Amino acid sequence: MIGITFLGDRQVELREFVDPTPGPRDVILEIKASGMCGTDLHAYRREFTGTEHFIAGHEPCGVVVELGKHVTESDAKICDRVMVHHYDGCGICRHCESGWSQLCDEGPITYGSGQGHGAHAHYMCVASHTLVPLLDDLSFLTGAAISCGTGTAYGALKRIGLEGDETLAVFGQGPVGLSTTQFGAAMGARVIAVETSPERRELALEKGAHAVIDPTEVDPVTAIQELTHGEGAHKVIETAGVAQARTAAVKGTRKWGTACFVASGGQVTLDVGPDLTFRQVTVLGHWTFQRTARLIARASSRTGRSTWIACLHMSSSWIRRKRPINCSISRRRARVCLYRLEESYPSIPHPISTRDCCGIAPTALGLRGI
Ligand SMILES: [Zn+2]
Ligand SMILES: [Zn+2]
Repeated sequence: MIGITFLGDRQVELREFVDPTPGPRDVILEIKASGMCGTDLHAYRREFTGTEHFIAGHEPCGVVVELGKHVTESDAKICDRVMVHHYDGCGICRHCESGWSQLCDEGPITYGSGQGHGAHAHYMCVASHTLVPLLDDLSFLTGAAISCGTGTAYGALKRIGLEGDETLAVFGQGPVGLSTTQFGAAMGARVIAVETSPERRELALEKGAHAVIDPTEVDPVTAIQELTHGEGAHKVIETAGVAQARTAAVKGTRKWGTACFVASGGQVTLDVGPDLTFRQVTVLGHWTFQRTARLIARASSRTGRSTWIACLHMSSSWIRRKRPINCSISRRRARVCLYRLEESYPSIPHPISTRDCCGIAPTALGLRGI
């Protein structure tokens, strides 16, 4: 088969590779769409080496065409349409078990990064546990976007616990930033999009931003404060990976607010007292998303807004009551949750019991995040 490698210095090469064969717990995907993530650009633009031997691409989406001998029907079936949570881990540490295999204690393998072949090829071999079902009404292109960029936006919004009555500022309106704007607006928040490109500012407005800021024309911190009665945004997500944006993201956060760095590049310089301590500001870093991103697909596939609102109402009330994730919720409430969940997402592959809904963090997290 043909695969694409990044040689550095903006050069790519089509190379012949042997068709992959699955290990006992692997599957082979026929790739239908493979996205270019912002992270790929680092490999694309790095110094020329000419020695890269790995297939690039970590936003895979395709169809299962071959199964390893120990892959069960509940893991995957031939012809399944799937996205890929593009990390493999030991499978048994607490991070792998909770769907965060990118944090694996044994060291994760990131497909398409030089540790494992990626998706810019006809076929790709992945561990069956990395598969995320793709609903029929989602295109392969959409699935590829969800497999990293859009999934990352969703993961960051879950992480910061955005509420529908809050103001969210999003620095950078590339694929991750635009997805953040779109999800944030759909979750009911007032979104302020910060972006240097006029085309991307236009797209941000189309995707639901309430206001846009051009940081080359105005100071973004001052502009955010003017749009928020001098207080700043409740939550800020920085996706640009630029030093000035990172600093402005923290300074544009209001007292008791949260600033979240999503992009991997860019340093930040802060005056800790006035920027953080004396304003009770929380700063955190966030890396992609939990494998339960399957809920992203289901959320994205709904054409009606009513489903969103039903789930949002439920999730925000959970957050307001500040329930810890693993606490036991009442059986009656759990039944309501399950009813709503099944009503909204009838194709959930595994039956979920009341006990599971109360006790398993990924389920609760997925529900809360929508
Ligand atoms: Zn990525
Ligand atoms: Zn692990």
